[in-house]
Amino acid sequence: NEIITSSLNKGEEEAEKSLRPDSLIQYIGQEKIKEKLNIFIEAAKLRDEPLDHVLLYGPPGLGKTTLSTIISHEMNVNIRITSGPAIERPGDLAAILTNLNENDVLFIDEIHRLNRSVEEVLYPAMEDYALDIIIGKGPSARSIRLDLPKFTLIGATTRAGSLTSPLRDRFGVVCKLDYYSEEELVEIVKRSADILSIEIKKEGAFEISRRSRGTPRIANRILKRVRDYALVKGDGIIDADISNKALDMLEIDSQGFDNIDRKLLKTIIDFYNGGPVGLDTIAASIGEESITIEDVCEPYLMQKGFLSRTPRGRIATEKAYRYFNLVKRNNEQI
Ligand code: ADP
Repeated sequence: NEIITSSLNKGEEEAEKSLRPDSLIQYIGQEKIKEKLNIFIEAAKLRDEPLDHVLLYGPPGLGKTTLSTIISHEMNVNIRITSGPAIERPGDLAAILTNLNENDVLFIDEIHRLNRSVEEVLYPAMEDYALDIIIGKGPSARSIRLDLPKFTLIGATTRAGSLTSPLRDRFGVVCKLDYYSEEELVEIVKRSADILSIEIKKEGAFEISRRSRGTPRIANRILKRVRDYALVKGDGIIDADISNKALDMLEIDSQGFDNIDRKLLKTIIDFYNGGPVGLDTIAASIGEESITIEDVCEPYLMQKGFLSRTPRGRIATEKAYRYFNLVKRNNEQI
């Protein structure tokens, strides 16, 4: 189901930009992170220094890129956005770093996917704002050190656990983004509807929020599909009834689960007796990528208590059995 799992295409990227809040005050939720960042940003500004390097981690769509852009706005500096897989060679990173202005923000999405040789360029850059370059080969090779502008690295990752420890240790500020509450998502949906000139009733916004698995990106995507539905099947206004019908059509249930979530749980129950079963086995059984399952489906299913992860594999919980009107007993279903 592309609403929940797909990555962004070009058009959507543009659309997301228009919905992106651009100050901390407009950024809804994540209160603890905002409070922390507010203080560190103020202090850095008072000292006229760049903000310390920041690591943001959490599932996709929770607002890591948005927050980074906001940080650069609040610091009154430019932001350069790139991603781990896009930086292939050490030279690519060196080029980016030497082109930064003093105090700029460099945002690296999916930072856990940087390759080792690139990562090694990052260490002295983060620590001493310096670039170590090897000149020559063999016995006559020597290393020279180039000064870089002071900058703030903001790294984003869906899995902090995959970061090497030397990299993780070089971030002064580490923030974990949590799923949003329904109330926060209602605010986000209303704000987006406002920007997109969509008329939406409170109950309509609530229904969308309830089924958006705590994720602003999904809430915004659903909002747009429900708007289409309201236009064609109703009078263009989104109320509870229209939201409900549209979401049923999209096959997103009251828990926010889609086909993939349901298939995943049902496969563990039907074919693996409730588990434990390994991630790759599940992925092969349901024909999805392991990465999608691990980064997008599982965190939400675990947070909701439908799935647990053990060293021996994934297990469907009692709650998952109940969801399908089954009973879990001695590891066997009835
Ligand atoms: P990530 O980088 O974590 O994958 P993004 O920063 O790209 O997520 O956020 C996805 C979309 O969700 C953005 O376009 C933005 O409109 C919306 N969004 C995210 N966080 C918030 C928030 N706290 N308040 C309002 N909108 C948000």
